[in-house]
Amino acid sequence: MYLSVVAPIYNEVDNLEILHNELTAVLPPLGDYEIIFVDDGSNDGSVEKLAELAAADAHVKVVFFRRNFGQSAAMYAGIQHASGDLVITLDGDLQNDPADIPMMCAKLEEGFDLVHGWRKNRQDTWINRRLPSMIANWLISRTTGFAIHDLGCTLKAMRREIAQELELYGEMHRFIPILAHQRGAKCVEVVTKHRPRIHGKTKYGISRTLRVVLDLLTVKFLLDYFASPMKLFGNFGLCCGGAAALSGVATIAMRIFAGVDMTGNPLLLLTVFFALAALQFVSLGLLGEVNARIYFSGNEQKTYTVRRLLNFSDAPKIRRAA
Ligand code: UDP
Ligand code: MG
Repeated sequence: MYLSVVAPIYNEVDNLEILHNELTAVLPPLGDYEIIFVDDGSNDGSVEKLAELAAADAHVKVVFFRRNFGQSAAMYAGIQHASGDLVITLDGDLQNDPADIPMMCAKLEEGFDLVHGWRKNRQDTWINRRLPSMIANWLISRTTGFAIHDLGCTLKAMRREIAQELELYGEMHRFIPILAHQRGAKCVEVVTKHRPRIHGKTKYGISRTLRVVLDLLTVKFLLDYFASPMKLFGNFGLCCGGAAALSGVATIAMRIFAGVDMTGNPLLLLTVFFALAALQFVSLGLLGEVNARIYFSGNEQKTYTVRRLLNFSDAPKIRRAA
């Protein structure tokens, strides 16, 4: 078995060596492996530290971003550059415990495609991290119909084919199990250890919750209507069209049978409003359909640019869109 471990790194200089040591203690018995660090534009010396680790250990491969593109982009880049049969993602801040990796790989061998961690005993502050996260997880579970306790846990193990099909941008790395599940992956949740952050600072605060909620809207849309947006907007359009027809008929009927002056009748305004809204929704639906066609006809846009690669023998494989 060949394992690819992917860790996004943004200003984690004091964690890198410890993480590398912990991984090197756990991985060899599992098979051959590569450790892919993705430097997300660090400016605290992580860049030099990563280069040092890569020079000393050929298992270590590093992708350096030109600037900070965010955790989703970092994970996406790491996953796209992975060549293992299994891809394991974990945080670079030592909060995930590499000792959980063998257990997760064993789960994959049982036949699952994706194993995601549940930080049951999460070591973060309660009020601005754990509580918003609990609410967000509950909300996401309810809206997507995917039962899950902890979407925010980066520690995951998955088959490479599944991992490389994921499109991660925005805060999409939090929705990996849902996105994979939608593509037919068999997912399972396992309880994983979680440790307090000792070195470095967290990159997120309360403001992230809001972004996650917005991304939730996107995910919900992607799950249900991505391939045919007309099903959503067309329905809105039809409803508005129906309402326009009703109030139009009512305006005329009131003119004929009750002698109500049409221009003085507010229903006329309502008719115009609904007719315009119907037009807008149908046009949106059509535009959406055109976009879906363009998307599915294949593009290779990426959400990041890479400054340089370390220890990669071939040019990276670039996935063609489905
Ligand atoms: N991270 C990153 N780019 C960013 C923010 C974070 O690569 O813009 C990395 C960070 O270095 C860490 C992981 O993502 O390895 C999780 O970040 P953090 O520990 O700050 O998040 P938390 O555990 O507090 O949710
Ligand atoms: Mg962390």
